Amino acid sequence: MTTMDALFEGYRSRTAALKASDNPLAAGVAFIDGAFTPLAEARIPLMDQGFLHSDLTYDVPAVWDGRYFRLDDHLDRLERSCATLRLRPPMDRRTLRERLVEMVAISGIRDAYVEIIVTRGLKFVRETRPEDLVNSIYLLAMPYVWVMPPDMQRTGGSAVVTRTVRRTPPGAMDPTVKNLQWGDFVRGLLEAQDRGAVYPILGDGDGNVTEGSGFNVVLVKDGVIHTPRLGVLEGVTRRTVLEIARSKGWTAVVDQVPVNALYDCDELFFSTTAGGIMPVTELDGAPVGGGQVGPVTRAIWEAYWDLHHDPALSFAIDYA
Ligand SMILES: *Cc1c(COP(=O)(O)O)cnc(C)c1O
Repeated sequence: MTTMDALFEGYRSRTAALKASDNPLAAGVAFIDGAFTPLAEARIPLMDQGFLHSDLTYDVPAVWDGRYFRLDDHLDRLERSCATLRLRPPMDRRTLRERLVEMVAISGIRDAYVEIIVTRGLKFVRETRPEDLVNSIYLLAMPYVWVMPPDMQRTGGSAVVTRTVRRTPPGAMDPTVKNLQWGDFVRGLLEAQDRGAVYPILGDGDGNVTEGSGFNVVLVKDGVIHTPRLGVLEGVTRRTVLEIARSKGWTAVVDQVPVNALYDCDELFFSTTAGGIMPVTELDGAPVGGGQVGPVTRAIWEAYWDLHHDPALSFAIDYA
């Protein structure tokens, strides 16, 4: 079983080895225009519509202890997102998968945050039909990103339910398409800071919970797991949480979650590929449940990291 101590200790020793490496790609690598470059030197063209109009989608798989986790689930979601936005990645899935493996292999990074970004390309959609455009793709890999740092995961993070901003409505930006229109989340992050917390939870403007800045929200009440159905990205981590819960015989409900339920729950946590299961023990300045990381959160946390070595969900990268 993976305890926090064991997981973070293994991570720390691999990270120390990576820091000592003289590989110029060890700090991060990008794949742009058919070539790999150190991440710090990677540049995109100013005229890219991803930059000028945020006309893009992206996805973030991760590598843990030298293994890609649920890569095909991330690629499936990327394909759905591209189809919704009428984007066609200029690389077939097989080549993309090969590049993603090669990119991490040549960097030597054992625990990696990996990003695939597909943008409209260099031409604006007002001037050209989407079918006639050549879209762009950018790949990058860097040392694992923790949305909640390991030490904070031990005691849990602090969050607020935002008062100054709501989630962009699904009728404006489809939240099931992973996107970088982060105006609402950035406002939420600033409000959280102003109120002495770290993480924002955004409502839908109608009294229901949606999600936060790059993570899904999950609460536990009387042993039942609840997470919002609408207005959210269908997270791969959230899916793993639901699968773990059901495998343990726990009830997991995906439906509307009223904001009030957050103030009345036993446990609260966030889920994202960049950090996994992130316990939240303080909400709007008050303790959540008993103010400690709860038993359901801890069990899901452990099962989540155990699965990273399961061959059904992960595969080893050949670093040779
Ligand atoms: C990426 C992301 C998540 C988490 O999705 P995972 O697939 O679990 O990484 C949740 N919400 C938003 C807005 C995101 O961008």
